[in-house]
This record gives sequence, structure tokens and C-alpha cells, in this order.
Amino acid sequence: MGGMCQTISIWRNGKKTEPVNVIEQTQNVPPMQYYPHPSLVAPKRNHRGEVHYSTNGQYLSPFSYEEPGSSIFTSTETFSGPYGNRFTEDQIYTLLVDFIIPPGHLFINGFPVLNEATNNVQIFKQCFSNPLVVYSEEKKSNSNKDSSHYSKQINAHERICVRCKSGFFITNDEYLTKDPCYFHWGKLLNHSFSCCKQSPGSIGCTTGKLHVWNGTVDGTNEPLEGFVKTKSSGLGNKQNVFALDCEMCYTVKGLELSRVVILSCTGSIVYDHFVKPDNEVVDYNTRYSGVTESDIHSSTAKSFSNVQSDILKLFTEDTILVGHSLDNDLRVLKILHSKIADTSLIFPHHRGFPFKYSLKHLMWTNFGKNIQTSDSGHNPYEDASSCLDLIYLKIRKQQEIHNSQYSYTMPY
Ligand SMILES: [Zn+2]
Ligand SMILES: [Zn+2]
Repeated sequence: MGGMCQTISIWRNGKKTEPVNVIEQTQNVPPMQYYPHPSLVAPKRNHRGEVHYSTNGQYLSPFSYEEPGSSIFTSTETFSGPYGNRFTEDQIYTLLVDFIIPPGHLFINGFPVLNEATNNVQIFKQCFSNPLVVYSEEKKSNSNKDSSHYSKQINAHERICVRCKSGFFITNDEYLTKDPCYFHWGKLLNHSFSCCKQSPGSIGCTTGKLHVWNGTVDGTNEPLEGFVKTKSSGLGNKQNVFALDCEMCYTVKGLELSRVVILSCTGSIVYDHFVKPDNEVVDYNTRYSGVTESDIHSSTAKSFSNVQSDILKLFTEDTILVGHSLDNDLRVLKILHSKIADTSLIFPHHRGFPFKYSLKHLMWTNFGKNIQTSDSGHNPYEDASSCLDLIYLKIRKQQEIHNSQYSYTMPY
């Protein structure tokens, strides 16, 4: 950041920004937990929709072995193990096709899409960017300290901090505004923040080293570098289903990938790696991500490009990805993919687009299950498997509707 004898300053409303150092906060990652997928299993007769969990999220009800011959819930080629005894992956795939976002809706929902005409990647997101020109202020050791002068033009961008809403300035790879960020990490509930019970407008109870932004600039963004596209599956390749959850940290580029967890459609872990961002981390976002500085610098952490190429070996363009607000994940993964089953859209908010229910809300209202309760960040297994829970619930409900319609038309 900055040369030895050069101070970069932003002048705004006659005030100059000053650098301040603030202590990083790090916390431990919660222990790995494995969650079953009871919704894969058809409800027993007279026990429709009942789901029981223990306090650690384990499903307590016995699996039902339904009478054969009634529906897709039976198969000779089923999964072994505790989860989806009722479906093969091919069957799940077929059922999920109905829930895939139509290709024309991906862009408006924030997913990166390829503009075929220009071969550029586009992202649509209402955000903030006012490119402007600022100047660096060079202090020369032999000159009068008070007589600073502008000598170097810099392409700077104004961003709005996603935490405290302050404006701040960056270049493509450097912070110009070095103010600390005072923010509330909690939600505003009943006119007070859940973090500290202070009222709206109060100074934040938590301090971050710098302001942060999400990395997406306004309107259409193109060209966007570093994006890769999932490849054709080829003839005879299996159509597969994965659930995905990414954790992110803040850098000068906005949100960057810090962890990827991929589950199979049965809920088993297929891939789990910490990721070392390409840029210096401004905030590890540990409170939400659970990812710490030591995780990212551990010997097992992968580079971003390695993770991207791993994923391209795992996913094909026919893979159905399950997740919640997957647009966020695919933007940070920089992956173009179109077969998306997104629980934030499959369970739409009652106020309609663009409002969305949180995954936590959906798990509570659909299963009475309280997720994301840890103080040390979300558990990506829990989030990804919750998405599977929800999507299988939806499938099951659809099956029930189908079956009830069928019996309704039956003659006495
Ligand atoms: Zn607070
Ligand atoms: Zn801020």
C-alpha cells in the first residue's frame, strides 16, 4: 500500500482521510457436523410432514420404507447409507429440473451470465460506483511539509461500505480511504440492533480495520476477468446434483472466496477447502464465515485458481446446483453456470421479487429448525444441507399434490 515517500490522500468536503490500525478479530471454526436429509424420505402414511430433530440437528424419526409401486419414491437402484433411500441421483435430477431458474431469469437474479454477442461476462446488481479521478499527494522530504501539491493522477472509485454505508475510495488494487469502519454486526429488530441493543443512527459497536464492499459495481459489469464456464458433460456422462455453499472474506476487490463446501445430493461431503484470496484480506468476516486468518494461511488452503479448476472437473454444464442465493456464490467463484435450483427463489418471499427469505427463516418456518445459531460463524455444511432439506421438501410436496390430484379423479 503506497510507496515509502508517498502518501495517498483523498480530499472530500475539505477533509483528508487518515489511516488507522484496528485489531483483527479471529475465532475458531465450529466442529464439523453432518446432517441427514429426512426430506428425501417419503412421509409415512398418517404421518405426513412430521419431522423431528434432536438438538444437534440430527433427524430422529425412523426412515420409512413405503409400500412399493406407488411413485418415484421406490427404486431398485437407491443410495445406500442413512440419507436418501428413496431416490436415485438420476431421479432427483429429473425432479429438480422443474425448479431450475429459467435461463432468461439468471441475469436479473444477479447471476453472472455470458453476453454471447460481446463474449463478455455480465452481472446485474444494484450497487454503487462513481468512477472519478483523484490525485496522490507526494510529500518531498526537502520541501515544506505544509505545501503539499497534487502530482499524480489515479483512477479511483468511490464505493459505499456495505456495513456502515460510508463512502470510501479505492483504486483497482489499493485502498485510498484508510478510515476504520464502525458498524453494527447485528440485525435491526424492533428499533434496536441485535448486537448491542443500540438504536438506529448510533455509532457502530464493532470496529473494522477498513470499510468494505461487495465487489459488484452498478448496472452491467463487463468485461469481467477470471470467469470460467462449466463444460459440456459429453455423451453418456451422468447428470449430477450438488449442493454448494461458499464463505467469503473482504479484500480491496470486494468479496473474495475463502472456503468452498460441496455436498452430494445425499448430503455427503464431496469437497471442502479453505481458499487463499488473490488479494490481501481486509476483513476475514469470521463472525459470518467462521473462516479465520489461520485457516486461509494453512498449508491445506488452496489458491483460487486451483479451486476453480477443481470445480470444473466436478461440475459439468448439466450439473444441477442447489443452494440459497447462489448468485453470491457463483460471483465469487467466478463460474458461469445455468442449471440452478435456488431455495431463495423456490420459496419466494410473500412480498415478491426482489425480497428474499433468509435460509434461517425458511428452515424455521418449514421445519421448526433453528440454524445458524453459532457465534463463530455459519457452518457451511449446515447451510448446504439445509438447502437440500428444503428442496426435497418441495419435491415431496409436489409429489403429494400429484398423488392427491390423481386420487381425486379416481372413480368410486
Ligand atoms: Zn451494535
Ligand atoms: Zn464501513
